[in-house]
Amino acid sequence: MPAGRSGESEIVKPRQTTLDRAVACQGIGLHSGAPATLTLRAAKPDSGIVFVRTDVDPLVATVAAVASNVVDTTLSTTLANAAGTRVATVEHVLATLNGLGIDNAVVEIDGPEVPIMDGSAEPFVALVNRAGIKTQASQRRPLEVRRSIEVRRGDKWARIEPAPAFAIDVTIDFEARAVARQRHELVLDPERFAREIARARTFGFADEVEHLRASGLARGGSLDNAVVVAGDRILNEDGLRYADEFVRHKVLDCLGDFYLAGAPILGRVAAFCTGHKLNHELIATMLADPTAWYRADPIDAPAHARPLVSAG
Ligand SMILES: [Zn+2]
Repeated sequence: MPAGRSGESEIVKPRQTTLDRAVACQGIGLHSGAPATLTLRAAKPDSGIVFVRTDVDPLVATVAAVASNVVDTTLSTTLANAAGTRVATVEHVLATLNGLGIDNAVVEIDGPEVPIMDGSAEPFVALVNRAGIKTQASQRRPLEVRRSIEVRRGDKWARIEPAPAFAIDVTIDFEARAVARQRHELVLDPERFAREIARARTFGFADEVEHLRASGLARGGSLDNAVVVAGDRILNEDGLRYADEFVRHKVLDCLGDFYLAGAPILGRVAAFCTGHKLNHELIATMLADPTAWYRADPIDAPAHARPLVSAG
């Protein structure tokens, strides 16, 4: 609750948030292997999350984090603007901003891919903690799901339905015995995100690594930034961070992909064996149907920007 408010009968509506100051981290891209510096900066109310490439012409550098900019969902989510400027592997930093309830931010990068860091969202959570979170004057404008939408591909499916808060229920089922079938359910709040989800790392299978590299993917991938599975074994010396780290990472990916709705979602997601492609299909299908969701328009002069007079 914002400090300094009084009046017991007052209904406090959630306000938008941004970062208190700029903070940066450095790493390499998981797929490109290219080094990159990522800087998180404050942004105006109602501006959402916007990526800015600092290594290209400023006229074409801005790529909004919205579903209509998704151009590739092979193993990670890649965005591009109308001029073709791309930003790859956006999902973990977006999951962090969604998970911690940050409405507005500029994410600057001096290269084509968000650094993978340790393969989880924990380094980005630490970055946001260093920056601090600032409450803004404008009310939050969540996207309210109004009716159920489902997408299917073979036996994989994902569904979103109305709910009073963002909730997610993900099940995965892999042949590899170290992963097998796992399920995780979460009603989103920042503490639970940081504790239960943020530390879960991306994962891959040892027998796929060569194929990925031949396809130009996972060039920056290593045991430092991914859990690698070989049948019933985990190749990482220190093992897992959570017994069900794999499904928790799927939840993390979903939080990133679903933030491409362009706003925090009030709705419940359930999914079986989902991935970036199906996540994007679900969001795009929902957004294409104006009867499936509602979002209030921005208010230019919000009432709470006026001097506060207690109603007693
Ligand atoms: Zn991921």
